[in-house]
Order: sequence, then structure tokens, then C-alpha cells
Amino acid sequence: MDEFSFISDILKPLARGFAGSLGLSDDAAVFTPPPGHDLVVTKDAISEGIHFTGQEDPALLAQKLLRVNLSDLAAMGATPLCYFLALMLPQAPQPEWLARFAEGLAQDQTLYNIHLAGGDTIATRGFFCASLTALGTVPAGKALRRNAAQTGDQIYVSGTLGDSALGLALVQNRLDGLPAADRHWLEERYFLPQPRMALGEKLAGTAHAVMDISDGLLQDMGHICTASGTAAVIDRHRLPLSQAVAALIANNPALWEYVFAGGDDYELLFTVPADKEAGIEALSVSLGLRLTAIGNITEGSGVTLRDEQGQALPVSRTGYNHLA
Ligand SMILES: [Mg+2]
Repeated sequence: MDEFSFISDILKPLARGFAGSLGLSDDAAVFTPPPGHDLVVTKDAISEGIHFTGQEDPALLAQKLLRVNLSDLAAMGATPLCYFLALMLPQAPQPEWLARFAEGLAQDQTLYNIHLAGGDTIATRGFFCASLTALGTVPAGKALRRNAAQTGDQIYVSGTLGDSALGLALVQNRLDGLPAADRHWLEERYFLPQPRMALGEKLAGTAHAVMDISDGLLQDMGHICTASGTAAVIDRHRLPLSQAVAALIANNPALWEYVFAGGDDYELLFTVPADKEAGIEALSVSLGLRLTAIGNITEGSGVTLRDEQGQALPVSRTGYNHLA
């Protein structure tokens, strides 16, 4: 399959729902953002051998690439608008592989109401890489930031933590003896993150600081603290666990590290002033999404993890560093 039939047969249908894409027939996209809104722009890239093995279903790969970007839009309180896709393909790509990759995108475009607006496809002498730039909109001046945590805020997290990092361990055959339902849950959490779009949009006016957890809870909490000039205390026993992760930890407490320092959670981490806590409970009910208070913002700097007695726990790893 050559570049031009790839564009006309596989990519153009993905751009049909967004007029600004000009049907992918011009040199660039052109569109006017909705009046009274800011554009929120984010980019993530994935590389074979680092983020995936190359043996995965290409549809899942495409969905994960799109969803990790959507998670960044959610963290800023933005509504998805469109995306740009760059593919770096190592050799004459299999048309079936490309078609399956596009199927994954098409499915998620419908689910998240976002469309392809442009991009590029090139050959590389290295491994397969892909990069996606997602655009969203937020009412002007209302983007959620990491730098607004205040002393006394409660710290909340959505969903459950550690599922994805343990899902990766499972995929890499580093965990065994799990019940089939737990295996399925962990693998799905690894391959298909659930960007918390509705939550992100609702946190405007309620949350102080917001970010998505992609590289480990403690490390990402540290980013909020650094940006805000605060410290944080997190209670390990309050961290929300799925049934699968709770069972694994009951057998092997060393696996706690996957919960507070494992990557790929794509849950939202946010801080809320005391008078807004009741609103978070109501939001949890209305969204049908677990929202758990896990600690407090305090004066000073750094992140402390505590046990049930309030004693600081030693932490050897806080998260994932892509260049370490
Ligand atoms: Mg992020």
C-alpha cells in the first residue's frame, strides 16, 4: 500500500467529521475555535520496544495513543476537538495492519467525539513510532492547572491505581496464578486506559490543582507540589485498589510499589478545598466514578507517604522516568 492510497482509503474517512480537516486534501487544516474558548494542545508519542512490543493488536495501540492524549486534555478540563497523527513506519507496511490501526481510531473517535484533522506518514530505518497531537477547547481562562494547590486542600484520585502497571507485569509474564477475571481486568486496564473526560470538564470551579497520573502517583504528586509551592501527605491505606490489585497485595505487600509508583494509570489527581468536598461526593455519584480522598496538601515541599499509624514509609521509587 503506497502513501497516497493510505491517505485516501484509510485516513480520509477518519477526517470526514471535522470540516477543518479540509478532507486532508490541503497542506494544512484550517478552523476557527468556538467563540469564548481557549485551545488546549497536547502531544504524546509511542515507540516500538519502549511502549509496546509490536505483537499487540494495532487497534489497541491506536486507541492507547489517542487515549493518553485525551487524558491530558481531561487533566486540563478540556473538551476534545480534533487530532493530528504522525506515523513513522519501518518498512512497506501491511495494509491489514494499517486498516486495523485505523479501526481502533475510528472506534474511539465515536466514543470521544474527536476527529482526525491532519498529520504525516514517513518511512524510518528504525522501529515503528507514532505521535499524536490532540486539541481540545475550554472556556477562556478556565483551563485546569497543576500550580493551584493550596495548603489544607484534600487530595483526590479517580478510579483505582496500580492496575495498569500490574497489567504490564502480567503481559510480560512477571505475574502468575491469577484468576481469569483478574487477568482480564488488569490487561484491559493496561491496553485501554479510560481518560476521565467528564470528570475533567466538571472539575472547573471545584478543584484547585489537577493533573493526570501517567508516570506514578508519588512522582506526579510531586509535580503538583513543585508547581504549587506546597507539600503533600498521602495515606497509603486510603489508596483506591481494584479487587484484583487488593488480592495481589494481600499475597505480596511488595507490590504496593506498583500502586504508588507504577505508570500508565491515566486517572485524574486533583486537590479540592475543604468546603468543596461534599460536591466531590455528589460528582462521584453522578458520574458513577470512584473518587477517593487520599491525603492533604500541607506547607513545605516534597511528598510523604504514610502508613495507618501516620508514620512516614520509606519509598525507593516514586515513578517512571523516560530518560533515566
Ligand atoms: Mg499528563
